[in-house]
Amino acid sequence: SCFNEYRLSSDLLKSIGMLNFNNPTKVQEQVIPAVLEEKDVIVKSQTGSGKTAAFAIPICELVDWDENRPQALVLEPTRELAIQVKEDIFNIGRFKRLKVPAVYGKSPFYLQEKELKQKTHVVVGTPGRILDHIERGTLDTSKIKYLVIDEADEMLNMGFIEQLETIISSLSKERVSMLLSATMPRDIEVLCNKYMQDPLYIEI
Ligand code: AMP
Repeated sequence: SCFNEYRLSSDLLKSIGMLNFNNPTKVQEQVIPAVLEEKDVIVKSQTGSGKTAAFAIPICELVDWDENRPQALVLEPTRELAIQVKEDIFNIGRFKRLKVPAVYGKSPFYLQEKELKQKTHVVVGTPGRILDHIERGTLDTSKIKYLVIDEADEMLNMGFIEQLETIISSLSKERVSMLLSATMPRDIEVLCNKYMQDPLYIEI
């Protein structure tokens, strides 16, 4: 199949073309149409499967450029991943001129605060710092409609589950949730059952 089938905007097809993504990967074939229809998805797959673009493409398509407050929140276990995924989303949203700040620990809070005060579409970050921003009122979650929990098993291993739950609880229930994980330990299943609505389970 090819990306034209998903009825993506020309801005998105242009950036996908510039990245030399000619055909969707297996995980993208399943995730992109589901998220475009605003379905919750649980994705069990490894890195290297194209999972980042699988959630980034529909999110970049669906966010409304005119809204100034963040509409998507992407949670990553480490700052390195947060930076990488921010770049991937930025590249996919390039021609739509999407603003994609990344926020993580051990980095000045006020600079992130300054960035979050401006127009923002997708926020990528690690759970601790994201929660910090939510609690201090520097991250407005009132318009968050898309939530991504990436590398969920890694977040569990790093002890982020409680912070994750606090973050998720602060979001509107009117949202699309995506959870990605290489393995599905019991605690992740519990999290999915608690916070996702009739999710589509995709295993690659
Ligand atoms: P990920 O699994 O998200 O870490 O992606 C692995 C690599 O695959 C990244 O370098 C992406 O740029 C690349 N990639 C993602 N989707 C596609 C695609 N449809 N065609 C070719 N390469 C892709």
